Amino acid sequence: MTTLLIKNGHVIDPANGIDEACDVLVNNGIIAKVAKDLKDKADETIDAHGLTVTPGLIDLQVHFREPGREDRETLETGSRAALAGGITSVVTMPNLSPVADNKTVIEFIIKRATELDLINIYPAGATTKGQNGKLLAEINEMKNSGAIAITDDGVDIQNEGVLMRALEYAKTCDMLLMSHCETDDLTEDGVMHEGWVSTQLGLPGVPAESEDLAVVKNIMLGRRCNARLHLLHNSTAGAVKAIRAAKADGYKNLTAEVSVQHFALTDEECFGYNTNAKMYPPLRSRDHVNAIIAGIKDDLFDAFTTDHAPHIEPDKLAPFADAAFGSTGVETSFAVMNTYLVKAGHIPLSKGIEKMTIGPARVIRVDKGTLSEGADADIAIFDTAKEWTVDAKAGFSKGNNCIFDGKTLTGKAVCTIVDGKVKYRDGEIVS
Ligand SMILES: [Zn+2]
Repeated sequence: MTTLLIKNGHVIDPANGIDEACDVLVNNGIIAKVAKDLKDKADETIDAHGLTVTPGLIDLQVHFREPGREDRETLETGSRAALAGGITSVVTMPNLSPVADNKTVIEFIIKRATELDLINIYPAGATTKGQNGKLLAEINEMKNSGAIAITDDGVDIQNEGVLMRALEYAKTCDMLLMSHCETDDLTEDGVMHEGWVSTQLGLPGVPAESEDLAVVKNIMLGRRCNARLHLLHNSTAGAVKAIRAAKADGYKNLTAEVSVQHFALTDEECFGYNTNAKMYPPLRSRDHVNAIIAGIKDDLFDAFTTDHAPHIEPDKLAPFADAAFGSTGVETSFAVMNTYLVKAGHIPLSKGIEKMTIGPARVIRVDKGTLSEGADADIAIFDTAKEWTVDAKAGFSKGNNCIFDGKTLTGKAVCTIVDGKVKYRDGEIVS
C-alpha cells in the first residue's frame, strides 16, 4: 500500500462544495480522506502551504497529432505538456492520419496512452468516414473500443441530412456528438474574424454568422431526438444567445464549452500579422468576447477547453493568409482562466475550477473531476499568485505556436498527480 498526504493546502473541489484549508490523503491511487489537520502517516508528504489543491483538470478538446503528424506533437509530448498545465485527462480529436474513424485507430490511442502511463486519454472518433461529411463512421464499434465521443472537429458536417442521421444514431447508441460549428459557404477563404481589424489588415474575414448559423442548426437537429450534443469552442454573441435559449427551453442533453483564448483575447491580436493569432474559430471582436464572458457569468457553459493545436514552425512562418490555424494551450489554460476571469473579477476561482474539472467530467460522463472519497486520485496543485511570462519554446509541447507566448499570466501548476502518483513537480516531469 502506498500513501500520499497533501498537507496545509487550500482545497477547491467544486463537486463537493469544498473551498477551504484542508489536507488530502491518498491511498493506493484513491482519495481516502479530505479533512482538516490529518495526522495520518504517509509514504510521501507534500507541503502545499500557500497553494491551491484541486481535482486534476480535464480538457475536452486537444489535438495530439498521433498517429500521422508526430512532427507536430505526439501522445507523449502532448501528455507531458498537459501535466505541466495541471491537466490529468484529455479528449483527443480524431482529425489524424489515418483519421480515427474506426476501432483500430481508437485502440491504438488507448494502447499508447496505457503504455505512456502519464495522463488519462479519452479518444474521440470521427462522426463521418474520413471526416468527409458524407457517410457515418462505425460509431458503435468505436464506442465499444473506448471512444468517448464522436466529432468531425476541424471541419463541420455541412449536409443537414447527414448531421441529423449522425445525431439520431448517436442518440441510439448513447454517444456524445461534439460539433465544430461552421458554415463553409459563409467562411469561404476567411482567415480571421470579419470586422474592423480584418478590414485594417486587408485580410478576408469569417463572419460571425458562419458560427451562429451552424450552432442554431445543430441545436435544432439535436433537439429533435434529444441527442447528447456538445458544442465545441463557442466564440460568438449569436452562439451565446442560441445556447441560452436552448438551455432555458429545457434541452437537457445540450452542453457547450468555451476555449480559454476566446474569453481572453480579441482579434486585435492579429495586428502585425501575428500568425499565432490565426485559429478557428477566429479570435473575435470585443463585443463578442464580452458576450462570451456574460454567458460564462450566467453559467451557460459546461467547460473551458484549450483546442490545443500544435504546429511545426514553417506552417506558422508562412504569410498570415497561408499559415496554419491553431494555438497550443494545455500549458497555459489554468493561468489564462485565472488571469482573465478570476483576477479580472468576473468569476470566483471555484467557478473556474468547476468548468475545468467536474463540468467537463459530466459532459463526457466519466467518474473524474472530484476529490470525493473513493475517487481516482487525479490532483493538481497550483500557485494561484505566481506571475510568469509564457515562453512557448521552453514548454513541453513540440509546438511553439502559442498565442500567449510573451504574455504575463498569473497562476501556475506546481505539482500534478495522476492515479495517486506524482507525474509533474516544479517544472519537471517525474516518471
Ligand atoms: Zn474545431
